[in-house]
Amino acid sequence: MRSPCAFPSVHRTSETDWGYSTEDQKMSSIVDPTKEVLNKGFPYARAKVIGGCSTVNGMIYIRGQKADYDFWATQGPEYKIWDYDHCLEAFKAVENNARKSPDEEFKKYHGFNGLLNVQDSSNDNYDILKDIYKIANNLGIPYNNDFNGVKQNGVGEYQHTMKDGKRFSLADGYLTDALKKVETYPPSKPFEIGSPHGLSDDAAKFVAVNVKSFAHMLNIIWDEEKKDENVAIGVKYFYDGRVHESFIAPKGEVIICGGAINSPQIFNKTMN
Ligand SMILES: Cc1cc2nc3c(=O)[nH]c(=O)nc-3n(C[C@H](O)[C@H](O)[C@H](O)COP(=O)(O)OP(=O)(O)OC[C@H]3O[C@@H](n4cnc5c(N)ncnc54)[C@H](O)[C@@H]3O)c2cc1C
Repeated sequence: MRSPCAFPSVHRTSETDWGYSTEDQKMSSIVDPTKEVLNKGFPYARAKVIGGCSTVNGMIYIRGQKADYDFWATQGPEYKIWDYDHCLEAFKAVENNARKSPDEEFKKYHGFNGLLNVQDSSNDNYDILKDIYKIANNLGIPYNNDFNGVKQNGVGEYQHTMKDGKRFSLADGYLTDALKKVETYPPSKPFEIGSPHGLSDDAAKFVAVNVKSFAHMLNIIWDEEKKDENVAIGVKYFYDGRVHESFIAPKGEVIICGGAINSPQIFNKTMN
């Protein structure tokens, strides 16, 4: 998983992949659009590992198109925060771009202090690529050295979510340090000098983030007293041969982040 060139080997193995396939689809033929052809289902990789698909993906760092974000923002007042300018600020905040000597234009579109490492390819361009750029240029396709910059079209080499030539997953960026973090509860309790660990009697120390590997989330537990409001108070999950329940702390919340397929699957199952 760390080695960029080996990443396809972790797809379609039951240890690291959910094993999904798309359904057979009837679609119009390219040759004759009035005729339908059967497009066979194909494997649809979804990672079953720490870091999710960021641990098995292609590491291509290309954001969405400006026009798409701006279109989302037109869907209603509450969608305004999805316009390109807001998203760009968020992209910059999470990014730690390692480009050597970035120019002013590049700096407008990139962040350099975030937790997600992004870098250019560490290999020199192959000669054949240089020829491809030349040919593309002759065809009127411009060279682009930043697919997340002012223009996203063109030909060139994209950046990667990598660090020092190795994959840099979201677990590397966000989880590794969070796992080391210890917090106290209640959070606002002042230290009392003289008590063990500097904590008052009713304050407890706990790890800020706890990961349970091989736990399979089953569904959301709703607050029975607030049935009409759909208030989530915990989750049910399968672990070590039986079903467990886990409840949130006061003012806590349940966040489902099982990916584009599994999140709706969990939610749907819960609502039915
Ligand atoms: C093969 C492949 C190549 C890709 N290439 C690129 C690329 O080059 N560039 C790019 O930007 N994007 C790429 N992507 C897409 C990108 O990786 C995903 O969009 C992104 O990782 C999605 O993040 P997520 O947190 O929404 O979900 P996921 O990464 O899918 O994370 C969901 C996590 O929840 C876990 N989970 C799901 N259901 C349950 C359950 N019931 N109980 C417990 N845990 C559960 C999963 O195991 C997983 O760890 C690629 C994706 C794949 C699969």
